[in-house]
Amino acid sequence: MTQRVVILGAGPSGFYAAEALLKAGLEVDLLDRLPTPFGLVRAGVAPDHPKIKSVTRMYEKTAANPAFRYFGGVALGSDVSREELLERYHAVVYAIGTAKDNRLGIPGEDLEGSHPATDFVAWYNGHPDFAAHEFDLDGGRAVVVGNGNVAIDVARMLVLAREELAPTDTADHALDAFGSSSVDEVVLLGRRGPEQAAFTTPELRELGELSRADVIVDPFVPALPDDASGTARRNIEVLQQYAAREPHGRTHRIVLRFLRSPVEILDDGEGRVRGVRLAVNRIEDGRAVATGEHEELECGLVLRAIGYRGDPVPGVPFDPRLRRIPNDGGRVTDEAGALLRGEYAVGWIKRGPTGVIGTNKKDAADTVAKLLADRDAGTLNAPRDADAEHTAQWLRERVPHLVSWDGWRAIDEHESRAGEAAGRPRVKLVSVEEMHRIGQGR
Ligand code: NAP
Repeated sequence: MTQRVVILGAGPSGFYAAEALLKAGLEVDLLDRLPTPFGLVRAGVAPDHPKIKSVTRMYEKTAANPAFRYFGGVALGSDVSREELLERYHAVVYAIGTAKDNRLGIPGEDLEGSHPATDFVAWYNGHPDFAAHEFDLDGGRAVVVGNGNVAIDVARMLVLAREELAPTDTADHALDAFGSSSVDEVVLLGRRGPEQAAFTTPELRELGELSRADVIVDPFVPALPDDASGTARRNIEVLQQYAAREPHGRTHRIVLRFLRSPVEILDDGEGRVRGVRLAVNRIEDGRAVATGEHEELECGLVLRAIGYRGDPVPGVPFDPRLRRIPNDGGRVTDEAGALLRGEYAVGWIKRGPTGVIGTNKKDAADTVAKLLADRDAGTLNAPRDADAEHTAQWLRERVPHLVSWDGWRAIDEHESRAGEAAGRPRVKLVSVEEMHRIGQGR
């Protein structure tokens, strides 16, 4: 009898797990909370990086396999439970990502005008849960906390010109807001030095190629340590070039400041951000240590780009310290570390929010290799009713607005057609109701 696997989450790690499972001859049902697939490729990758988004063509090939089915709009933990899935599948693969933002844990973090960068990214990418959010882009100066690639993405999006964003799939509401934005300076704050920055060199280099913005590097001129690693060395070389460059007198500026930790987000007296208070740090053994010196930086917008973390799903094991599903190389364990039969994890919820899209391919293949070894050893889950048609019927009853792969293709065509007229890859639907309507041919 063919083994049937359900994957929760249709982002990159979910699709790479599907690809590996199908190749091994198993049947795959891929479920996502949203009607639309592709996770962070659709809702995370910056719209001005269309080449990165084209990885979805590979996922479409996976979806064309007759042993693959897609069920969009099914939320684990509310529409269906882990126990119910274990009644119907030989294995459950969690590919649910780490959708929550990390917190700074400082006063003023929740003032109006202070947002997680994850919300901002989801908003400009048209994620339906964030489409109604509002970001005040009138402030003059915006501060981005963090030195990762998300920090660089949001900084770049804030200074791109209207005509640069116009040919992208940036959500319409965000195109309008960026078009009338008066943010003209973005300060990126790293709590440590350039050597410890998490961003990668191509992303850092891209900042220097922006048409509207000069890149200004902290007066703290980074020296190149003898033992700097590859990325750190290349980053410092680029930063040295920026530091040596005369500003071109462009209308916008991206300022990179290092050794600065926000210790308070300052209130203008009416509950809005007016600036950030910063502790000046020095580096000791690679760690940021406060010098006792402080500075204030005025701004109207704060975006906290300090990483993602996992969110527990009711009924699914969770490690509250690591903020992941506990697992041993991809085999899910209970909170005490005992292996759970037939349950697996891939991607960020398995290993934490690190790496690029391609990192998830090897990660998913590693987990699938364990799943196949368990199959060969006869230790997968033993479902009560693994009939594919019964399962589809059950899901349809549970979720009346289910979107199939054909339904997604209808949404995709609708969005692409709307984009064609404007010379854009697509105009994204941002309402779940509309996705249901188009996805169900109504
Ligand atoms: P990240 O790479 O983990 O960077 C997080 C940054 O936040 C680090 O600089 C970290 O500094 C800083 N930070 C954490 N806690 C802080 C605190 N309390 N105060 C001040 N700073 C703090 O995370 P990310 O930018 O969210 O990216 C997630 C993953 O997606 C990464 O692997 C990234 O490369 C990837 N990504 C890739 C692309 C691309 O390829 N273009 C685009 C976006 C994202 P410390 O190092 O000092 O902790």
